[in-house]
Amino acid sequence: MIKSIVIVGGGTAGWMSACALAKSFGRAYSIRLIESEEIGIIGVGEATVPHLSFFNKTLEIDEAEFIRQTQGTFKLGIQFKDWARLGDTYIHGFGTLGHDLGAVPFHQYWLRARHSGRADELSAYSLNATAAPREKFMVSPSDAPKNTPLADIAYAYHFDAGRYAQYLRRYGEARGVVRTEGKIREVRLRATDGYVESVVLENGEAVSGDLFIDCSGFRGLLIEGALHTGYEDWTHWLPCDSALAVPCEKVGPPTPYTRSTARTAGWQWRIPLQHRTGNGHVYSSKFMSDDEAASILLKNLDGKALAEPRQLRFTTGKRRKIWNKNVLAIGLAGGFMEPLESTSIYLIQSAIGRLVLMFPTGDITPVLVDRYNAQASFEFERIRDFLILHYHATERDDSPFWNYCRTMDIPEPLRNTIALFRDGGRFFRNAEEMFAQVSWVQVMIGQRIMPEGWHPMVNQMSDADLYAFVDHVKSVVAGCVDAMPMHQQFIDRHCKAPAK
Ligand SMILES: Cc1cc2nc3c(=O)[nH]c(=O)nc-3n(C[C@H](O)[C@H](O)[C@H](O)COP(=O)(O)OP(=O)(O)OC[C@H]3O[C@@H](n4cnc5c(N)ncnc54)[C@H](O)[C@@H]3O)c2cc1C
Repeated sequence: MIKSIVIVGGGTAGWMSACALAKSFGRAYSIRLIESEEIGIIGVGEATVPHLSFFNKTLEIDEAEFIRQTQGTFKLGIQFKDWARLGDTYIHGFGTLGHDLGAVPFHQYWLRARHSGRADELSAYSLNATAAPREKFMVSPSDAPKNTPLADIAYAYHFDAGRYAQYLRRYGEARGVVRTEGKIREVRLRATDGYVESVVLENGEAVSGDLFIDCSGFRGLLIEGALHTGYEDWTHWLPCDSALAVPCEKVGPPTPYTRSTARTAGWQWRIPLQHRTGNGHVYSSKFMSDDEAASILLKNLDGKALAEPRQLRFTTGKRRKIWNKNVLAIGLAGGFMEPLESTSIYLIQSAIGRLVLMFPTGDITPVLVDRYNAQASFEFERIRDFLILHYHATERDDSPFWNYCRTMDIPEPLRNTIALFRDGGRFFRNAEEMFAQVSWVQVMIGQRIMPEGWHPMVNQMSDADLYAFVDHVKSVVAGCVDAMPMHQQFIDRHCKAPAK
């Protein structure tokens, strides 16, 4: 029977796990978190997806307070620049796209209207994608008219990663999580079955537990260091293996979206916060030197750099088993995919949700662990394919990096997804994969995969009705966006952070 849970690591993964377990199970288990200030946390991971608001709601975190404490801003989606061709821009907006008619999704009608030259860019039919470049934002008001996009605005957050971990620490400690400061120097295994028995700190204290959650970051102290679980390397599909991160002064109001600009051997992120702007250059060291990557990053900042660029190295992929014996790896210890679609914190949240649902009733049984690992693998692999799509579906041929990505072999499920879409604009979501149809459709169209046809049911509509329908959807979206306040105004009114 599990009585005690030991969490190794106090970054986003460690504290999110601690808070969620304390909230879900009260004081039924002792929860101890060990972290080392000397090692510190990775300190990046500042853009999220809408699911995080659900996590916060489960924890009963007050949104305005959370935004103030973390210097946060709101995010309606991601703007992609120069991805399919130099000069291209598109937005992957959260939330709905147009208005589905029965079983036929809106984009099918758009495809036919577009074919006749009677439809605008896809973004004109999405509230999020239209509001983002106009820097408008609000949360859905409780009296928003139903059946308009204002009734259900989907959004995520940008926040300061260091402040987020501190915020969660206060939350966790107030609910009984015991934090231990110290560096782990040894992991002891039980002789009988190879389960982790205890971790030993540099001061000699041995901390034992029944379930260990490895949130020790890339090093995977328990899952790899002690259990030698093995790692699936996906670098051949996602060749970026390095990043440089640097904050800069903000020069204007924060945009309600993350920006991703493709560079010659990777891409650059821009994440606006209330007090500064986060930036980073993700690149492949095989195709670009660190010096060149740093110079590109520093040349493309909005304002003055506030620190020296910080170098990070990673191997894209995941542990062969995320849960092995009595060790569950959450966060970077479990695997990593680059932050192109801000999925890492989502993966932490989802791993925790899965643990809570599958929390052992008695012993840790193989059937439970196998099911956990199968679900985790499926989730990782579908996100991986969504990321590969951005790189592979490109017409860029201006650098060896893009030539590699454009011509590389891709996983078969992704090849089939692209072929189905090209054929008749169809997409089928696989089970509970993270990204829904609207995400895949926006990215595929944005990456210039233009279907050759559309669903035959769309032909039931006359030309006149079709054009009137898509025009109406566009004007409703435009009218809703007109009614929204500026992002900065919304923040000033509801959740402005203290100046320092
Ligand atoms: C370049 C880059 C950009 C990213 N951007 C995003 C993004 O925009 N959105 C997103 O969702 N995610 C992003 N991520 C991922 C995100 O940063 C991580 O998922 C998140 O921060 C969780 O990290 P972690 O808690 O697993 O590890 P860490 O933050 O590295 O924490 C590890 C913890 O383990 C402790 N530890 C390690 N060894 C020991 C030891 N021997 N003894 C005691 N304690 C120890 C450390 O002290 C620390 O507390 C990004 C990652 C990278 C690399």
